[in-house]
Amino acid sequence: MLRYDLHCHSTHSDGLLSPAALVQRAARRGVDVLALTDHDELSGLAEAQAEARETHLRLIPGAELSVSWREITLHVLALGIDAECPALCDGLAAIRSGRLDRARRIGDSLADAGIPGAYEGALQFVTSERLISRTHFARFLVQAGHAREMRDVFKRYLVRGKPGHVEHDWATLPEAIDWIHAAGGRAVLAHPGRYKITPTAMRELLAGFRDAGGDGIEVLSPSHSAAQVTDFACHARRLGLLASSGSDYHGAGESHLDLGDMPPLPAGVTPVWHDW
Ligand code: AMP
Ligand code: MN
Ligand code: MN
Ligand code: MN
Repeated sequence: MLRYDLHCHSTHSDGLLSPAALVQRAARRGVDVLALTDHDELSGLAEAQAEARETHLRLIPGAELSVSWREITLHVLALGIDAECPALCDGLAAIRSGRLDRARRIGDSLADAGIPGAYEGALQFVTSERLISRTHFARFLVQAGHAREMRDVFKRYLVRGKPGHVEHDWATLPEAIDWIHAAGGRAVLAHPGRYKITPTAMRELLAGFRDAGGDGIEVLSPSHSAAQVTDFACHARRLGLLASSGSDYHGAGESHLDLGDMPPLPAGVTPVWHDW
């Protein structure tokens, strides 16, 4: 059976490894099919693809799109896209364009809470001038001694109700799904268990996602408990959505799962890769 990992990040967004190093690590760890899914960004795919040709590994071109839905931010994975597609490239450029101003506002919010210099501090951790994310702020906050490790940061900062949280408008769900389809890819709702919404809102989200053309949901994710894996596998079967599996690897010391570490998908779901 082939080993799939369809969610990870490189230095072209908020990961710690270059695309080539990520592919090498995945290949060494026995991953057969890897999707590179940088946030709102395709610029790492060429390097990853070139490196994959030197290994047994098959690279699936991907991205993780930031989407605003009701009051929350969703992440939608694009899997198997044509990285040259103008609609997708333009859409991603539009999503990215708001990030710098948002980062300045995050810095202002942290300054108001007594943490000055966070914008400049976060910039020191940025590895692609095209993309600054909350992860870079989180690394700064750990370095500056405001939290012990990455997962602690997001309990006390950068999330709703805490210093460093700012509202931001990303793409809409129909926009994101349409761009992904224009590029020939599959749209997969990332880590649905991470969204802090009621069970009713979750059913509405999943039905709305499917009705907007969404293809699948990430069932196996380090964000999910065993109960959530079972739950989202049921939702996938119920709604006729495909099931995906990804480590969401960002780098050593920052990820619960290493590349390819997921167990097999639960029985009864159709894998997003069933016809690849
Ligand atoms: P952004 O796209 O700028 O909102 O940043 C989102 C990124 O922050 C995610 O992709 C994760 O890498 C990181 N992140 C968000 N919440 C957490 C969390 N609870 N623990 C660790 N990393 C998180
Ligand atoms: Mn990330
Ligand atoms: Mn995500
Ligand atoms: Mn991710």
